[in-house]
Amino acid sequence: MERVIYLDHASTTPADPAVVAAMAPWHTEQFGNPSTVYSLGLTSAQAIQEARESIARAIGAEPDEVYFTSGGTESDNWAILGTADARGEKGRHLITSLIEHHAVLESMDFLEKRGYSVTRVPVDGGGLVDPENVRRAIRPDTILVSIMHANNEVGTIQPISEIGKITREAGVLFHTDAVQAAGKLPLDVNELNVDMLSMSGHKFYGPKGVGVMYLRKRTRITPLFHGGSQERSRRAGTHNVPGIVGIAKALELATVRMNDDAARESALRDRLWAGLEANIEAIYLNGDKVRRLPNNLNVRLEGIEGESMILMLDMEGICVSSGSACTTGSLEPSHVLLGLGIPAEEAHGSLRVTLGRGTMPEDIDYFLAVFPPIVARLREMSPVWCASCVRKQRS
Ligand code: PLP
Repeated sequence: MERVIYLDHASTTPADPAVVAAMAPWHTEQFGNPSTVYSLGLTSAQAIQEARESIARAIGAEPDEVYFTSGGTESDNWAILGTADARGEKGRHLITSLIEHHAVLESMDFLEKRGYSVTRVPVDGGGLVDPENVRRAIRPDTILVSIMHANNEVGTIQPISEIGKITREAGVLFHTDAVQAAGKLPLDVNELNVDMLSMSGHKFYGPKGVGVMYLRKRTRITPLFHGGSQERSRRAGTHNVPGIVGIAKALELATVRMNDDAARESALRDRLWAGLEANIEAIYLNGDKVRRLPNNLNVRLEGIEGESMILMLDMEGICVSSGSACTTGSLEPSHVLLGLGIPAEEAHGSLRVTLGRGTMPEDIDYFLAVFPPIVARLREMSPVWCASCVRKQRS
């Protein structure tokens, strides 16, 4: 089989072989239910405890502030819906940003339909939240601020620590969706001034379907799941022991490799951008130039649809993502790009390229060889592309 050039690591990552090896025995010989009292079960309970301690060390938390969930979506839903329920008496106002993941935005929409009010703070042209806008949005009835650490589409990194200072002064709880940041940026829950933080194993070379929710001690929250006393009675359901062992191993490896991976991937990413800019006209960078994840490149091209670029790159064995939510079949432009102030027709021509541990210099060379002719072909067929107009505008 021909090698696939996988440049969609923000979507998911392949599990590290060391992670798979660490998980294996917990599927087979060590299959005991950790909630039982005999030795086979206690061995599983011990493995969960070690995983909890390892994750706590990686993010500067106490072990009993770490809760295992089924992934980023559950952690985000729990933080928002669980806080709204537990603190609804105190107030019914929540704050988030325009460019959060749907797991946050749709949890907020759900609450809004049930009588809560939500302020969605804007972002600047690079996708950055101004902490002062959060300060101004806080009201006496605000119970939660939820702002993501790093954006999944454009990779912009938010000033979480500054926002956390503001929420702390105001006595408002602060949640951050760190699903894209975990494993790529150093995370310390105390330096970040957060009360809750979401992570997901499959974004940092761990297993799919397992996540973490950091919940600061003495933070009141209503469980989402009922029916068992697992996770200190806050998250019912038999533990996913292999997944929990796997996510802890993945985070441990990512923490050790973080600086080297970031240096290597950002150098390749920068080389890719330089090559694209030099060889393709009317191509622009989406997102903040400096405050962005080391592996993220998001570009928009005039006169082309993102989906057609993806399909043509797929024929060349390259996997990337676009700026359109085609999963719904509606080809709606991305709310993130619209939030950055990019007009809908330009947002449609966006492409997200996210590098990873397996990305090789020759992959970048290959991309740079096949992509410009694809752009030229698509523009030739495009009813809206007008090369002479672009040249005129630029001169
Ligand atoms: N939050 C962000 C920023 C994400 O990128 C994702 C996944 O794409 C999620 C949440 C959802 O995580 P999961 O796939 O583990 O449910």
